[in-house]
Amino acid sequence: MFFLGRIRSKPCTRCGLHVNDREPECWHCKDLTDLQAVYLKKAYTEDVIKKNKGLAALFCKLAAVALVISLAAFLI
Ligand SMILES: [Zn+2]
Repeated sequence: MFFLGRIRSKPCTRCGLHVNDREPECWHCKDLTDLQAVYLKKAYTEDVIKKNKGLAALFCKLAAVALVISLAAFLI
């Protein structure tokens, strides 16, 4: 099915960051050397892992609060 005006992206083969399909080359790493692209990919991956750990901790806290509220509502 064709979606008019919808922007699609795909991961770059060098740096792993998502790039618009309409771009001829990745604007994240087109001016970087191969080594710099590897460092960019590594820094991005480490940043994503750090952010996901924080998000997981937040969801655990929210689940604990929901459990306490549901137990309090059940016992009252
Ligand atoms: Zn790239």
